[in-house]
Parts: sequence; C-alpha cells; structure tokens
Amino acid sequence: MSLILGGGITGLSAAFYNTSITLLESGARLGGWVRSLQTPEGLIFEQGPRTIRPRGKPGANTLKLIEDLGLEDHVIPIQSNHATAQNRLIYVNNKLHKLPSSVWALFKTLTPFSKPLIFAVLHDLRTKSVPKSDESLYDFTSRRFGQEIADYAISSMICGICAGDAKKISVNFLMSYVFEVEQKYGSVIKGVIKDSKNKKADDIEQSDLYRRAKLEKWSVWSVQGGLESVVNALDEKVKDKVNIKTNTAATNLEFHDKGVQVTLSNNEQLEANHVISSLPAPKLGTLLHKQHPELGNLLNTIEHVNVAVVNLAYDNVPLKENAFGFLVPPKENLPILGVIFDSCCFPQNDWTILTVMMGGAWFEKYFTGKSKEEILDIACKYVHEILHMPRKPHVHHVDILKECIPQYTLGHKSRVEQINNYIQKHQLPLYLAGASYNGVGINDVILSSKQAVDDIKWQHWGAHAQAA
Ligand SMILES: Cc1cc2nc3c(=O)[nH]c(=O)nc-3n(C[C@H](O)[C@H](O)[C@H](O)COP(=O)(O)OP(=O)(O)OC[C@H]3O[C@@H](n4cnc5c(N)ncnc54)[C@H](O)[C@@H]3O)c2cc1C
Repeated sequence: MSLILGGGITGLSAAFYNTSITLLESGARLGGWVRSLQTPEGLIFEQGPRTIRPRGKPGANTLKLIEDLGLEDHVIPIQSNHATAQNRLIYVNNKLHKLPSSVWALFKTLTPFSKPLIFAVLHDLRTKSVPKSDESLYDFTSRRFGQEIADYAISSMICGICAGDAKKISVNFLMSYVFEVEQKYGSVIKGVIKDSKNKKADDIEQSDLYRRAKLEKWSVWSVQGGLESVVNALDEKVKDKVNIKTNTAATNLEFHDKGVQVTLSNNEQLEANHVISSLPAPKLGTLLHKQHPELGNLLNTIEHVNVAVVNLAYDNVPLKENAFGFLVPPKENLPILGVIFDSCCFPQNDWTILTVMMGGAWFEKYFTGKSKEEILDIACKYVHEILHMPRKPHVHHVDILKECIPQYTLGHKSRVEQINNYIQKHQLPLYLAGASYNGVGINDVILSSKQAVDDIKWQHWGAHAQAA
C-alpha cells in the first residue's frame, strides 16, 4: 500500500497516477495552495496559482491530465498575441514601463533601461566566462548582461516566480540550462546558438489538448471556476479508489525492513510499503528527524517564505492598462512584489479584479506584526497611487500564506542531490514530490508526482525481476 502525505495538487495527482493508496491531509479541505474563493457577489478570487504554462514536457503532462479528467472543454486559454501575453510591466522610478516583447525592441532604448538592450547582448558576447559551480541569479546576470538587466528584468522576474530575492537564488538551479551553456561555451548567446544544433527534442506525450495549445499558440491557461476546479475534478476521480483522510496529519515516520510506520495526529498508527511525500521539505524533515536526524537537517535547509495575497475587486471601474500585471524590482524598496490584473486575463463581467502579492523574501522586513487590515491598507494605497483605482475596493480578501513558496537558494541542486543520496544509501521507501525540490510551478509539481509513482513501479518491477 502507498501512503501519500499531503492533499494539495501534488498529493492528489500522485493519487490519480497510483493504485492502492491512502492519502493523509492535515487540513479540512483538499487543494493546498490551489484555492479559488467564490465571493457572495459571484466573483472568483484566486488566492494561490492562477495561470499555467502549456510548454515543454511538464506543460504537456498537465494538459494530458486535464484531458483525462474530462476538463478540456472548461479550459480558458490566453493566446500569445493577447494583450496580457504581450504586455508585462515593471514599476520603476514611480512609473510603469513595458518590458520588451519582440526582437525589434532590442534596438530601441526602452525605459527604465539607459541603452538599447542589444548592448546587453554584446556585453555577453564580449565577456569571458569564469569557471563556477553556482552563483546567484543576480550576480550571473550582472556579469553576463550588465547590472540594469539584473536589477530590472531578472530581480522582478524572480519576485514573480517565487517571491524571492535574485541575490540569493541559484542560477545553477533556476536557469541551469543558461548557466551550463555559459560555462561550456563561454557566453550565453553563443552557447544557446551552438547548443541548439545538438539539442534533441523532448520526448513529449502529445495529447489532443497539447496539440491544440501548440496550434493556437497558447501563452498560459486556466479553467472555468478557477484552478480549484482541477482539484475538485481530481478529488471526484480518485475518491472511489483512494482512502482520503482529511483532518489527519502525519506526526512521525519510522522506517523499517518492510516499509514504514506512520503515526497520525489521532495517535493511530498506519503501516505502508512506501510513502510519497508532497509536504514542504522542512515539514517532512520534522516527521523523520527522530530516526534520521541527518536527513531531517538536510530537508530543513530548504527555506520557504510567507506571502500576503490581497484580492481586490472594483465594480464598473475600468483599469486603464491592459496587461498581465506589473512587478516591482526590489531596488525600488516598496512593500509590494507586484500586482496581477486578473480581469484583463479572465474577464468577470464589469468588474476589475486585481491581486496584490506582498512579502516573500521581504515579508519580515515589511510585515512583522502587521494585521490583515494594515496589509489591506498598504495594498490599496499602492493600487490607488500606481493604477489610479479608488482608495477603497468594493470587495476584498486578504490572506497570509505561511511558508508557501520554496526558495531555491545557492547550492540547491547539490542539497537535493545529498537528500536523494541519503534516501538511496539507506534504502528508504520514501519518494519526494512537490515544490521543494525540482520546480515550483503547477506543471512541475504534477510531473514530480508522476515521476514518484513511476519510480515506485520501477522499483517493484526490479524487485520482482530479481526474485524471479
Ligand atoms: C501565492 C502563490 C501563487 C502561485 N502562482 C502560481 C501560478 O500562477 N502558476 C503556477 O504554475 N504555480 C503557482 N504557484 C505554485 C503552486 O501553486 C504550488 O507549487 C503548488 O500549489 C504546490 O502544491 P503542493 O501540493 O505540492 O503543496 P501544498 O499546496 O503545500 O500542499 C501540501 C498539503 O500538505 C498538507 N500537510 C502539511 N503537513 C501535513 C502533515 N504533517 N500531514 C498531512 N498533510 C499535511 C497541507 O495542508 C497541504 O494541503 C503559486 C503558489 C503560491 C503560494
């Protein structure tokens, strides 16, 4: 019997791919950070993720899952020529600036950059590479493309991806391909061009939905009713074959010859042949620390940050800008990471719906001891000043998501390697999935659950083959 820890999107998709399972979820509801709140006005406020990319193997895998769940007619795609795919903004020096979205833009001076971006390309072509095993994304980008690219483009992009500080995030994890080609060929641009000749196409399982996404050039997509509809469809699909225990936390794991004994929050004990953990790494670390302190300590080193999410809705007050939203580079020293223009992507009648993301790597600096009302006030102040929306929204919701996003800090790749080596060396029947290890996006975590289930199947098959 497999035991899955955690009933977020990772745990539920692991249940979908698996057979003979019990799933433990400490909370009362399933879905984890995937939460689409329905307000009394009939609006949908996404509190966690809101858009999914369709590209590459992880994107194709999620679209296959959507098809298997029968949700293909509920998908809402955003095509790459849509204004929200073209217009991504940053807020610098009290103004919104559009980031370049075409090759031609390289030759123009676009504020806040002081010269045409072609100079950043030339900088990369002319600068010798220095052998390194890892470096912060900020330092890497400054070294290769100049400080303005690091300050404005990369630092704000990292706020958008993981609410993180580019000065701490590992390039050898988050942009490992770019780092590897730079180390191998001496320049990112030269490396990408040379390597494209050797690159093999990914082995992608092409569902009808994936083919449609390619043909129609989707940039991102969501589903009707918000992304929680995917959680509900997964729950519906697996509930007959999976023993789902909500309000039941795992409190201790003890591995033995034949599997693992799990202690539950109601003091019951459960036996399983193997465990798939979709918990954030430090939470898993605490569960097994007693028996495996070294592994527990390693898992604990993967930091997670808090994010305050403020949803705001304005009835019949149109937004001037038509864009995906804007990000604020940390250099601006403002207490917001960025604002997503939800209703530009997915209109909801005459409402303007915005989400202000706050905190992340700077949560303690700006929000220690602040109440939800104070956080709401700060969000409204900046939306008013920057987007000229009324000081008071008609509907709002504030949530503080504790330790919700992992930070892939310097040395992350080798940390994950050490964790996997420990598990292998001690032959623990433990399989890791979720955002803490190999990617934070919905596509990454769903693929991680599929891989965990495949690894269990391979190990079973190997054990049978050896016995025969
Ligand atoms: C604000 C925000 C915005 C995001 N935006 C996007 C986006 O637009 N696109 C995108 O692709 N990704 C986005 N992400 C990332 C994505 O949402 C997450 O990576 C993903 O939801 C993680 O899912 P999970 O199941 O791995 O983890 P979680 O959602 O953390 O689920 C883990 C579950 O385990 C349970 N649990 C904890 N401890 C125990 C225990 N001891 N026993 C049993 N159960 C336990 C928890 O209650 C929880 O339900 C965003 C994330 C956040 C926070």
